[in-house]
Amino acid sequence: MARSKRAGEVVVAVPDVGDVLARAAVEWLAPLRGQLSAMHRQNRLPHALLLLGQPGAGQSELGMWLAALLLCDGQEAAACRACAGCRLFHAGTHPDFYRVRPEEDAAVIRVEQIRGLSESFALKSFRGRAKVALVDPADAMNINSFNALLKTLEEPSDNTYLILVASRIDRLPRTIVSRSARLRLPLPVAGEALAWLNECRKYAGWERLLALANGAPFLALQYADAGLEEIDTQMQEAMNSAEKSQLDIIATAAAWSRDQPEARLYWLESWLTGQLREAALPSDLANNNRLPWLRVAAREPMIRAGYRLLDTLREARMLVNGALNTQLLFEGLLISLMALVGGAPGS
Ligand SMILES: [Zn+2]
Repeated sequence: MARSKRAGEVVVAVPDVGDVLARAAVEWLAPLRGQLSAMHRQNRLPHALLLLGQPGAGQSELGMWLAALLLCDGQEAAACRACAGCRLFHAGTHPDFYRVRPEEDAAVIRVEQIRGLSESFALKSFRGRAKVALVDPADAMNINSFNALLKTLEEPSDNTYLILVASRIDRLPRTIVSRSARLRLPLPVAGEALAWLNECRKYAGWERLLALANGAPFLALQYADAGLEEIDTQMQEAMNSAEKSQLDIIATAAAWSRDQPEARLYWLESWLTGQLREAALPSDLANNNRLPWLRVAAREPMIRAGYRLLDTLREARMLVNGALNTQLLFEGLLISLMALVGGAPGS
């Protein structure tokens, strides 16, 4: 089974170029594809393009799709997949395509990688056509990498295209954002996402995984590949222990911080949201057997504490991929959670 390599990253087999491009062809990205190919046809594509979307919204896939289009020798609305350029691209050997991502076991894109990209971009195109770089995820650059990239952005060479893929615009310096044209990716409505996931693979748990992926279909697919159903069971067991005040906070925080912390935060958020939704029902409708923590006399303060914890969880999700001690973060969250559902002192 796949294991987490770094905070928030689910490690699965890298899909081949054909699979990535097939994913980018989903219906809900059609307006963006149309927009990009119209700009390409009219020679209006900016030198630097920032594709933004929630994790798993398809920005990586769309970035590859655009790179393929730019490197295709044909004049179609999408890469033809048959010309010499497309064949090189599919084989992963196109000499004018630069894919920059964190190297094995590294969390960040190093400055040397960006310098290498800048040097290559300054050279003539091997095939006498466009040169394309895909930096994915761009929010994995550190400050030195950003500064090195800024030079390339400020002095673009002819017929070069820099595609930046990111999910967090607040992790990108303003100098980078202001020099890039921004495109934000939409998420499909749940029904459309589920239909697409079921086409990919028949699986009864898609609704659950899609909720854990915050509605992002490509992330739900990654979760399925990484066996996240197991995490669902583990988390439910942990909540049962928390209600009995039997959860080992230190050991649990250590385990969660090592294994798909972001997915666990999503899980906790959706679990607590469900609990609070039930708590808001009139007491004769609420299933109080399922919510023992709400049987206490101090019902209203508990609900308020629940909403405060929900805010903290959302903030934590924003922080978990940053340079933050994930174990400490989980310890803090588990202390609040135990205080809430376990009726421990301090609630
Ligand atoms: Zn082609």
